[in-house]
Amino acid sequence: MPRVFVALGANLANPKAQLDKAVSALSTLAQGDSLQVSPYYCSAPMSDVAQPDYLNAVASFDTQLAPLALLDALQAIENTQGRVRKARWGPRTLDLDLLLYGDEFINEPRLTVPHYGMKARSFVLVPLAAIAPDLILPCKTPLSHLINENMLVELPLLGIDH
Ligand code: ATP
Ligand code: MG
Ligand code: MG
Repeated sequence: MPRVFVALGANLANPKAQLDKAVSALSTLAQGDSLQVSPYYCSAPMSDVAQPDYLNAVASFDTQLAPLALLDALQAIENTQGRVRKARWGPRTLDLDLLLYGDEFINEPRLTVPHYGMKARSFVLVPLAAIAPDLILPCKTPLSHLINENMLVELPLLGIDH
């Protein structure tokens, strides 16, 4: 059964509550007690659209869902939590991006895995390393090679008590 990694992000309507609720929804997709969740980190928005800071985390679990079924499930969770798609990279109650699906490379109209932005985003790499420090990406790059000191300073931890 593949192990999958999902990035969580929220910056509206009580982001911590949004992430807590999303984690609980993700646990229903996870096989047994395989769900692992990183601490929550604060990050600055990527876009020039004026908006609040983000809360980010990464979750990992084993699942029997096929990739597109998993994407459907993630989008259903986003929708349940009031995600409205307006400006690209605009504010949102919840974003769930599928980072990795085992070691697979997927290129479908609705789904690109590994996620195209993951190697350049500190708010993904740092939480990912918190739960999978020895991870080797499907392209064979060790995750640890992508992380630098600045990234760790950039991302204050909200606190591991989530
Ligand atoms: P970004 O993808 O740059 O992080 P975003 O998360 O705000 O931006 P969304 O509006 O959440 O973008 O998603 C846009 C589309 O991306 C979705 O409709 C989905 O079909 C597609 N998509 C492609 N690959 C993935 C993936 N790995 N995870 C989630 N969505 C994906
Ligand atoms: Mg995203
Ligand atoms: Mg998304």
